[in-house]
Amino acid sequence: MEKSADMFPQRHIQPVADDERVWNWAQNATLGARRQVRRPAERTQLQALVAGHPGKITMMGSRLSPGELMRTDGPDELLLDIGALSGVITSTADTVTFAAGTPLQQVYQTLTEMGRMLPASPGVIALQTLAGAMATGTHGQGLGQSSIADEAVLIRMILADGSTAEFDRHHPWFGAIQLALGTLGILTEVTLRTLPARIFTCVKSAVKDTDLESSLYDWNENFPFSKAWWFPEEHQVHVWCAGEATPAEAERYRLNNRQPLSQSAGDKSMNATVDRTLVHMQNDIRSAKGDKPFKTVERFKDFSDVTGDIYQLFCRGIATPQINIEIGIPLRRAGEMIRKIKTWYAATHPHMHYPIILRCTGPSSAWLSPAYGEATCFFGFVVYYGADGTLSPEGVRFLADVEAMLAGEGGRPHWGKYFDPDLYHWRDIYPQWQAFGDARAALDPTGKFANAFTTALFG
Ligand SMILES: Cc1cc2nc3c(=O)[nH]c(=O)nc-3n(C[C@H](O)[C@H](O)[C@H](O)COP(=O)(O)OP(=O)(O)OC[C@H]3O[C@@H](n4cnc5c(N)ncnc54)[C@H](O)[C@@H]3O)c2cc1C
Repeated sequence: MEKSADMFPQRHIQPVADDERVWNWAQNATLGARRQVRRPAERTQLQALVAGHPGKITMMGSRLSPGELMRTDGPDELLLDIGALSGVITSTADTVTFAAGTPLQQVYQTLTEMGRMLPASPGVIALQTLAGAMATGTHGQGLGQSSIADEAVLIRMILADGSTAEFDRHHPWFGAIQLALGTLGILTEVTLRTLPARIFTCVKSAVKDTDLESSLYDWNENFPFSKAWWFPEEHQVHVWCAGEATPAEAERYRLNNRQPLSQSAGDKSMNATVDRTLVHMQNDIRSAKGDKPFKTVERFKDFSDVTGDIYQLFCRGIATPQINIEIGIPLRRAGEMIRKIKTWYAATHPHMHYPIILRCTGPSSAWLSPAYGEATCFFGFVVYYGADGTLSPEGVRFLADVEAMLAGEGGRPHWGKYFDPDLYHWRDIYPQWQAFGDARAALDPTGKFANAFTTALFG
């Protein structure tokens, strides 16, 4: 019970504008005190700050992660906000260099204006900073790509002594730098590879979950981007499969001022499932219809195929305080895992108010990516907070049980979401764990960028 309270803390729902404490985005963890925060205006100021500060330094992006990664251990430590280091620095025909504090929203908008896109598909929201997204392996879906960090071709950092360093894909530590949980240095600039922007049509359907074990592979092999939401109680799956739009679809989209264009009439086949799921949600979170959590589920109703760019299709989530656990399982074992979840579900009927999210990616070159070295299926589980900042005990039990089950199967958790570190044998599941530790010992020998959480993790 105590562990749940630690892992899934209650939200602080009072306004924090005048609070002396610094909270993470969900307001379920404090990171330190406001007087610890520094926001340097430019890179040389940041370098001087790092060189002149004898104590520890923790970086914050948009603070969307659970608190542990960014929690300071004492009042002399600095909480570094690099939000002022934002925007485009330079570009070539097939790369764009952004300051690392740039919000993803701005990255995507800039690329769209240039007629470009990242090869990596976006996650569901774009509030993250580029540095924060890379540091935790933020990803979308599609076997032809992996995470946003995988699109980096050059990363500039400030090291623990205040010096600058740059790492390209040939550097022996590049795989460590790409996704480093803020433990190797401060990302200041990232050069991302880009592609010409394309228009996609996302075909949406509702199917029974009887063949999910095999259909998941078909969807992912036949479409560049596919995502599924599985309602095990209802034996139903809502599926999105996006492929390049036909010339006629693309033309209609252009004539629509490049706004997302519905290609079909609303399909009601998910509506009954959605209504039953909303009853669970209403019982659990006691919030009113029309609140954000309700909207996230209600959007499965009356669905239609849509044409748009990759950001319009996939990056349209409603940012809602939640506990989100996402575990990567090698894609070759995803069918077996789905079977296990079905058996477990039938035996226990755990309480859920949001479907299981299935997103598959190709292999990542980042040593600590859950998709390192192998195509991976991410199983995502969400429990929303109630309006009073609490979580339903049934929801918490469901999350704890399902995480234990997937961890027991050798799953690797998403670093920017919630997980119980005690469930994982890191050295067994990450072949480059020791190599990452060696890079860390060389780049940050005094542990300037460590906190209690990362020290416990890496030793
Ligand atoms: C509503 C919601 C939706 C989400 N959707 C998705 C999704 O679709 N896909 C997905 O994969 N994830 C998703 N996430 C997880 C999210 O992408 C990660 O938590 C991400 O790290 C958040 O970015 P941030 O800028 O808020 O980083 P923060 O949470 O502020 O920081 C994360 C880590 O980055 C480090 N860091 C920050 N800046 C720097 C820097 N300049 N140099 C070095 N290290 C730095 C921090 O020290 C910390 O370790 C979601 C989270 C929420 C709350």
